[in-house]
Amino acid sequence: MCIFCKIVNGEIPNQTVLEDENFLAFNDINPARKVHVLVIPKVHYDSFDVIPPKIMAGMTEFIHKVVSKVGIKESGYRLITNIGSDGGQEVPHLHFHILGGEPVGKLVR
Ligand code: 5GP
Ligand code: ZN
Repeated sequence: MCIFCKIVNGEIPNQTVLEDENFLAFNDINPARKVHVLVIPKVHYDSFDVIPPKIMAGMTEFIHKVVSKVGIKESGYRLITNIGSDGGQEVPHLHFHILGGEPVGKLVR
């Protein structure tokens, strides 16, 4: 079972930000910005690449709620999902990173 499925099952503790029947938002264990929340579907999907559009619609609505709850709706934020090897995905369970609480900077190399 993947590490995020273990979090969903309560086998690994997490700092929950928001939860409903289908989705869970929790603080990243190694925050890259002042606010760094991960949002996952409770059902395992390997990545955004295979997410059914209906699940994605629910995810979008849930992410909006998380953003309001952590108080970064007005100041803005970055929403990222890494996909596969070149995408830099480490945990093979679809997750969105919400980064904010401070200017997150440009995407440059
Ligand atoms: P990825 O590189 O797959 O997009 O991001 C995985 C993220 O999961 C990383 O930011 C990492 O810090 C976070 N992470 C990995 N293991 C755990 C864990 O056990 N608990 C929490 N809260 N975050 C984790
Ligand atoms: Zn999983």
